[in-house]
Amino acid sequence: MKLYSTNNKNLRVSFKEAVFNSMPQDKGLYMPVEIPHLDADFIKNIENFSLPEIAYKVASTLLKDEIPADDLKALIDDAINFEAPAVKLDDKTFVLELFHGPSLAFKDFGARFMSRVMSYFLKDGEQLLDVLVATSGDTGGAVALGFLGVPNTRVTILYPEGKVSPIQELQLTTNGQNIRAIEVKGTFDDCQALVKQAFADDELNANFRLTSANSINISRLIPQTFYYFNTYAQLKRQGLNDVIFSVPSGNFGNIGAGLLAYKLGLPVKQFIAATNINDTVPRFLETGVYETKPSTQTYSNAMDVGAPSNWIRIMDLFDEDVESLKKVVTSYRFNDEETLAGIKEIDEQFDYVACPHTAIAYLAIEKFRQENPEDESAAVFLSTAHACKFPDIFPVDIAAKIEIPEQVTALESKPQHADQLGIDFEGFKNYLLNKA
Ligand SMILES: *Cc1c(COP(=O)(O)O)cnc(C)c1O
Repeated sequence: MKLYSTNNKNLRVSFKEAVFNSMPQDKGLYMPVEIPHLDADFIKNIENFSLPEIAYKVASTLLKDEIPADDLKALIDDAINFEAPAVKLDDKTFVLELFHGPSLAFKDFGARFMSRVMSYFLKDGEQLLDVLVATSGDTGGAVALGFLGVPNTRVTILYPEGKVSPIQELQLTTNGQNIRAIEVKGTFDDCQALVKQAFADDELNANFRLTSANSINISRLIPQTFYYFNTYAQLKRQGLNDVIFSVPSGNFGNIGAGLLAYKLGLPVKQFIAATNINDTVPRFLETGVYETKPSTQTYSNAMDVGAPSNWIRIMDLFDEDVESLKKVVTSYRFNDEETLAGIKEIDEQFDYVACPHTAIAYLAIEKFRQENPEDESAAVFLSTAHACKFPDIFPVDIAAKIEIPEQVTALESKPQHADQLGIDFEGFKNYLLNKA
């Protein structure tokens, strides 16, 4: 697979280069030059394949020239070692649970696959890869747990003191091995500034092979296509062939992967991009004007994004043609009050506890059905995180129903460790140089 930049379609880089650069110099995003169709026979018989088998088929269609078959198979079996069940709520409504990985969020698919791809490309005696991440909570957990124990890599995570939830702190500080957690006496922005300055520092770059492993990395997008294909297989097994997906969206990586799956040949009737009041994309689809805004805090805080970083990938997939995009993608926004009402409605109707992000995707399906009463497709809304990660949002009677998964309870008995640093760059730099 060769890739170009969305800012320069004549550029050609290898998949390995794109993975380690994350972003082209011209600040565009990497996109595949060719998006081959999966063979029609495979799609026709997809219900006979398991998630790892489907993942391998999709990945090899894109990456067969970059990673030999046996290595790719092993990499996928190691990375995608948890389930993604489409749970039936009624005859035509399903919730796709993407939170059965180690950090209880869909970002595990991307982080685990990316870490193993990086490690694979580093195996022939290349320099250790140092991943630096600033986190306000969720991304850090997925990256830490995604890289935990992965050879040739080391992760340093900076998080703001007192600003991450107890579960998130457990996920950041109980790892040991190749993961270091640093509690910064400052805000998330301070953490991010330290990391940015480190990437620009000559001495650090001379000593270490630094990467950000961030969410626009192409190796995070590819594994997120797997569960769209796998969901289609699950529905086909139940005799359902027409499917729409509703995706709770912030940076639009998740739905971007769904649309990549569509371009790879997955038959999907409609995608719904569901957002909170950070509604740059729904506004764009209504007005034709793309206007980013500073983000506003909401209950669905992983979607508090005013300038969605993956949107240019989606425009690129549709050759910048908004009309053809609008035939496939609908978008709705919901505020916090509606989100809470959605959580209660899902609980009452289906006795199911959905996290706030998930509830927004559910509300979007209801709205789509109101506007399109003739549409009889099965509707799947993506559940991007386990409800236990957002304990403060729920009314007490619903909170009482949330079961804490064993991935979390297993961490509670482990010793926690974080190094403490201030917000001065010299302190952080000395830490990196001297604690190697
Ligand atoms: C990251 C995240 C999202 C948003 O996903 P994007 O790919 O950024 O659109 C939604 N829900 C949860 C729980 C998340 O962690």
